[in-house]
Amino acid sequence: MLDNIAFFEGKFIPFKDAKISIMTHAFLYGTSVFEGIRAYWNEKKKKFYLFRALEHFERFKNSTKILRMNLKYNTKELVDLSCELIKKNSYKEDIYIRPTAYKSSLKIGPSLINTEDDFCMFTMPMGDYIDTKKGIAVCTSSWQRVEDNSIPARAKISGSYINTALAKAEAQLNNFADCLMLDDRGHICEGSAMNFFMIKNNKLITSPIYSDLLEGVTRDSIIKIAKQELNLEVVEREIDRSEAFLADELFFCGTGAQVSPISSVDHYIVGNGAIGEITAKLQEIYFAIVKGENPKYSNWYIEI
Ligand code: PMP
Repeated sequence: MLDNIAFFEGKFIPFKDAKISIMTHAFLYGTSVFEGIRAYWNEKKKKFYLFRALEHFERFKNSTKILRMNLKYNTKELVDLSCELIKKNSYKEDIYIRPTAYKSSLKIGPSLINTEDDFCMFTMPMGDYIDTKKGIAVCTSSWQRVEDNSIPARAKISGSYINTALAKAEAQLNNFADCLMLDDRGHICEGSAMNFFMIKNNKLITSPIYSDLLEGVTRDSIIKIAKQELNLEVVEREIDRSEAFLADELFFCGTGAQVSPISSVDHYIVGNGAIGEITAKLQEIYFAIVKGENPKYSNWYIEI
């Protein structure tokens, strides 16, 4: 990592020199927004496949708007910068790209007004964030998902990841891989840092975008793949906690999580406990697409 190149204060510089002050607004108040994007290394083609960077940077721009930031780069420029960053680093394995826009003023007081903004980005290797090969055991978090009128979950705001961090730590301390986060009425919003899908009677069901969740790029990809490749009916509706106990199949999805089957919730076994048939198919199609092996979806990746 230390020999890496990062983008910082408008320039590509050594990662080890990309440092901010301890008085930076974003460090003091969590006032930064970020994205997590994957580029998959295809060993046969000796190329990277950067997955849906445009959509990630569109969401990034929306997050900056919510934090009243003025980012000087447009979406296309951000995509180009991320491609350049990948080229400047010499990885030959799956990587993760982390752009951040942050309140850069050295200033006390959390207001978003009259503060400066800056942008930085780094990249690092990333394998599985969550096990994708066997189903994971999850619990229901005792922490409630931040709601839209508190910290909007549809913006990827660093400060709101305290909510994720508390929930993830609690789950891990109780020997679960992750958790389901509920809203104030007990409906399932999403996982700690991934979206949630349920399969019941051959229907693919997921929480709607007004359910205090991040509108995941992978969520959107899975919905499209399910409709186009498997001809599945997709329903976006609120999901009760106990519906998860009785589901045929469950899985998480996200840039980090990819497609992660869930084998139990609160110790209730999902289906027969093995990876479900539909989940397995979605997973197979998803992995082929992200590795650049399905030309039908070539508008979803940039070959580098
Ligand atoms: N929800 C949260 C809270 C997340 O942090 C993530 C990861 N970015 C997701 C969902 C999945 O979003 P995406 O598919 O765009 O990575």
